[in-house]
Amino acid sequence: MKNIFLFTDVAELVTLESVRNQDGRRIREKDLSILKNAAFVVRDGKIVWVGSSKKVPKDFTKLRPQKISLGKQIVLPGLVDCHTHMVFAGDRAFEFEMRNQGATYQDIAKAGGGIISTVKETRRTSHERLLKLSQVRVNEHIRQGATTIEIKSGYGLTLKDEVKILKVIKGLKKARIVPTYLGPHTLPPEFTNNVQYIDSILSDLSKIKKLTRRCDIFIEDMAFSASDSQRYFEKAKALGFDIVAHTNQLTASQGVLVAIAQGARSIDHVNFINEADIRSISNSSTTAVLTPGADLFLKNPYAPARRLLDSGARVAIASNFNPGSCPTQDLQMIGALARLELKMTYFEVLSAFTVNAGFALGLEDEVGSLQVGLSADFLTTNTSLTGIFYQPGSSPFTGIWRDGLQIS
Ligand SMILES: [Zn+2]
Repeated sequence: MKNIFLFTDVAELVTLESVRNQDGRRIREKDLSILKNAAFVVRDGKIVWVGSSKKVPKDFTKLRPQKISLGKQIVLPGLVDCHTHMVFAGDRAFEFEMRNQGATYQDIAKAGGGIISTVKETRRTSHERLLKLSQVRVNEHIRQGATTIEIKSGYGLTLKDEVKILKVIKGLKKARIVPTYLGPHTLPPEFTNNVQYIDSILSDLSKIKKLTRRCDIFIEDMAFSASDSQRYFEKAKALGFDIVAHTNQLTASQGVLVAIAQGARSIDHVNFINEADIRSISNSSTTAVLTPGADLFLKNPYAPARRLLDSGARVAIASNFNPGSCPTQDLQMIGALARLELKMTYFEVLSAFTVNAGFALGLEDEVGSLQVGLSADFLTTNTSLTGIFYQPGSSPFTGIWRDGLQIS
């Protein structure tokens, strides 16, 4: 099979080049960097040329690439979902009912439900079964347009069970998968205090080095404190991990400031933040990852997206797909919520779900925009750009491609 392809008949190629060049901040409509009547060349999965269909350089045509017509459609970068908890067993449908009848997230956690109930189910489920369950979810995410999916562990909470989950994540196929360790997700039943649990995590942290390059923590009243996170981040960084945090989702805390001071790639949720937090996020290289799907399901106040965007922060959007606080994989709904509730423009949402999510993962030189040197991960659609993230329940994408090959 030839490993060089010429993609032609692209009505509009939405490259997002300017979004990436300006660091994903203060995005305007023209930063979508749309090329009309475009073509592009892909070699070994990477984009090697982008331009007008009438000007394909001879250097490439003489290599006789396999020509693929994209049918005069719009082409845009594959979606990057930079925050999911996709590997789990069981569901939390009963808890959904409890919440709707008035119980809070904290009430449910105190009653032994919440994350711990998923931990129990996941621990007793075999590697093979988890792999099978999770691949079905990955396939659904791909159908929704995601070509890159971050997946966290955090439903094992012992070294053995966390390693099992990270190995399941490694075994998932078709999409580009980014594994993240989330041992400090909640306090496991074997421990009675955070300090001892964090101590045990720190002593085992080097053992997961081969399975992930990212370490996450849940900083919240009901989970871990900002000072727990400080110790965890220091050790993780010393071992060479990238660090990220779930923080300020349900209550205000020092989590944002600690994570930024430690150089976190992303701080996720950030619903409860003040002006000082917003200033410090905007002046940092940390990406704020907003999760409006979880806010919908938890009836939680939405994050102050406009204030973040208008002060120059880099904002990404993610599904936070998980069985408790966001059981939907409908990425069209997540994007529509960002437009409806976060008051983001269509071009801010498109950028947030591609380039900026790539930044959140430290993969901005690999995914998120369609430029020379980046992966040929792209979507085709017949709808208008404002028609994306408009109609929950159906996917506007007619083809999903990763590394220049069609995967859905
Ligand atoms: Zn999460």
